[in-house]
Amino acid sequence: MASAEPGPSQPVAPIQILYCGVCTFPVEYCEFGSHITRCKEWLQKEHPPLYDKYYSEEALQAKLGTLSLEAQTKLEEDTAKKEAKAEKKADAALKKKMASQVTIKRIERNKRKYVTAIHGLEAFDVDLKKAAKFFAQKFATGASVTKNAQGFDEIVVQGDVSGDVVEMIEDGVGLLKGVPKDNIVEVEEKKKKGGAEGA
Ligand SMILES: [Zn+2]
Repeated sequence: MASAEPGPSQPVAPIQILYCGVCTFPVEYCEFGSHITRCKEWLQKEHPPLYDKYYSEEALQAKLGTLSLEAQTKLEEDTAKKEAKAEKKADAALKKKMASQVTIKRIERNKRKYVTAIHGLEAFDVDLKKAAKFFAQKFATGASVTKNAQGFDEIVVQGDVSGDVVEMIEDGVGLLKGVPKDNIVEVEEKKKKGGAEGA
């Protein structure tokens, strides 16, 4: 009888890499990101032993020991600059986002026949194709992404669903969650009077 049959070999424990909750780099590489101050705060709060390992006075001394004082100062300045730049960029992006409008336009195509054009959702990270599909299902009608006269993508839904779309945004339904209702602009485009249509 084979009594010494070797069992399945023990799996080698995978090397645990801890990724930073702020910059998403492995924590030992946070200094290469642009959020080192916040990275350090995060690490200190979440993993104090690791914080001590990387950022204690001792660890810093050991690391900087080889750098001249001048180089140390330069390094700190560069980091601060990088951080300021990243913060500014994030700020600008947020401002731009908050200034973006979502236009919901009711367009009369023919007598009592409407389409609804929705423009600007992409500024709030809404996938337009998915949104068109979502509207098509919700309203059991046709919906597509098309370029408007200005060359911008917008969603065109068959029928007058403008009021419903506004409500859905206000209620944060499905993928419309995150679109601020304050940014909605409702527009009505009437069919021009005296058109070719003979009533
Ligand atoms: Zn980090």
